[in-house]
Amino acid sequence: MTSFFSGPGRLWLLVLLLLGSWSPAPAQALIETAETVPAVNQWLGPGDRLQVRLKGRPGQRVTFFKNLPMTELAPSLVKGQRGIYQGTYVVQPGDTLQNRPILFQVMRNDTVALAAAFSRTKVRFLSPNTPQLALTKGALAYLNYGLGEDRLGGAKFGYLDSAVVLHLTGMVGNQYRVRLAENQQAWVPQDVVRLLPPGGFVPASLTGSCSVSGDSLYDYVQVPLETRLPYRSQLLTNPTRLVVDIFGATSNTNWITQRGGIRELGDVYYEQPQPDVFRLVLPLQHAQAWGYGIEYRGTTLRIRVKRPPAKLTLKGLTIGLDAGHGGSNVGATSPSGNQEKVLTLAIAQKLRLELEKAGAKVLMTREADVSVENGSRVLRMRQLNPDLLLSIHVNSSGSAAVQGTSTYYRYVAYRPLALAIYNEVLKTGLKGFGNVGSFNFNLNGPTEYPNALIETAFVSNPDDEKRLVDPAFQQQLAERIRAGVETFLKGTQAKGPRGWLLHEPAQN
Ligand SMILES: [Zn+2]
Repeated sequence: MTSFFSGPGRLWLLVLLLLGSWSPAPAQALIETAETVPAVNQWLGPGDRLQVRLKGRPGQRVTFFKNLPMTELAPSLVKGQRGIYQGTYVVQPGDTLQNRPILFQVMRNDTVALAAAFSRTKVRFLSPNTPQLALTKGALAYLNYGLGEDRLGGAKFGYLDSAVVLHLTGMVGNQYRVRLAENQQAWVPQDVVRLLPPGGFVPASLTGSCSVSGDSLYDYVQVPLETRLPYRSQLLTNPTRLVVDIFGATSNTNWITQRGGIRELGDVYYEQPQPDVFRLVLPLQHAQAWGYGIEYRGTTLRIRVKRPPAKLTLKGLTIGLDAGHGGSNVGATSPSGNQEKVLTLAIAQKLRLELEKAGAKVLMTREADVSVENGSRVLRMRQLNPDLLLSIHVNSSGSAAVQGTSTYYRYVAYRPLALAIYNEVLKTGLKGFGNVGSFNFNLNGPTEYPNALIETAFVSNPDDEKRLVDPAFQQQLAERIRAGVETFLKGTQAKGPRGWLLHEPAQN
């Protein structure tokens, strides 16, 4: 392995150190900027690409890292600019590098450097011989599909319990790359894991024999493992079933015991779609799923499946109700100064009365103009365990012409709730802005209960705004949302058990 402080750059490093600072550099500098691409700290493993870019004087001989040549790009590729160089190095097995900046040099010849600079960012090469592991921490750990970011965060792969062992094979900026199985990976934000000292064993386990059971509240499936492995769940429809993949697990499940008290689960089975992915399939008796949770008890993975409420009417139902924003988080503001946080609370309070009049118990995430983080709202609701959750927001667009109502859900199994509310709210005369799926919003994240986000109307549109601030219209909205929930409940009743009728249907 190349040491940093040897070779042709040494002399120039001394000169540059005496100069003190590299930037801002004059326009004529041999090196104006030199950075890794992307320009963030990185961990790379064998086969990964270290990419770099340098801006300097055209026509130079430029190298990076282990004196590797960089190529000057044709101006047509970089909007007519000259003096843009780039380079790639594919990390090889056996390469080592411990959180170091990358050296760039402009060479006079093979041995003499005219200028040198270091990247601001640091690079570490991971050795497959000393695996880097981490444990998930906190109640809201999650994996992302990739490095994408927007105002909702990256697209989420799924949530994980705490103390799940993750095998990290890379890092880009503030996310680690997680190897889940052969050809399967995800990314995890740094702030939801705790790094372990390098060198543990890559997490893997045989599965023990599983059990399916029920108590007075839930049906359960339990999978004994040797360690807390990462997993992913998908609640699918037509027929309704929950599919749970456990990564790093290989079947030694020689039976699945079915105990007493099972009411919602059909004939649970497993498959091994690849050598290191164990997949459980949990068929549900009812077309409408009412939620599920996955957690570890020790190193046994436990899947908890909710049954439909005893009665599919508002009377007796517990509904979580979330008035968006609040306190210092005002949400959207119209040109005339109407604030989302005020409107959402006004509508939610009216909706609360509507639901309570119909006999529902309502649990609010806020009842006054106070700041509550979305993460705390999710945690609190997961604890309170409502039958359904509704989140009330007000939409906004850069274009005043955009208007209408819209509803949002994340999981396809919860689409009927959002759709029923959408169709009812349209009866107020608001234009339709759509029912939107796969929506990556915190309050749509929990799998424990069906949930929907209602973006009532656009405060940025003068017509919609006039209605949103009118207490009579807020009342109409509340009534339509209540009616939407009732339509949803009726719909789930009408459909009844469908798909897998492998047990006696439950008595509700
Ligand atoms: Zn909002």
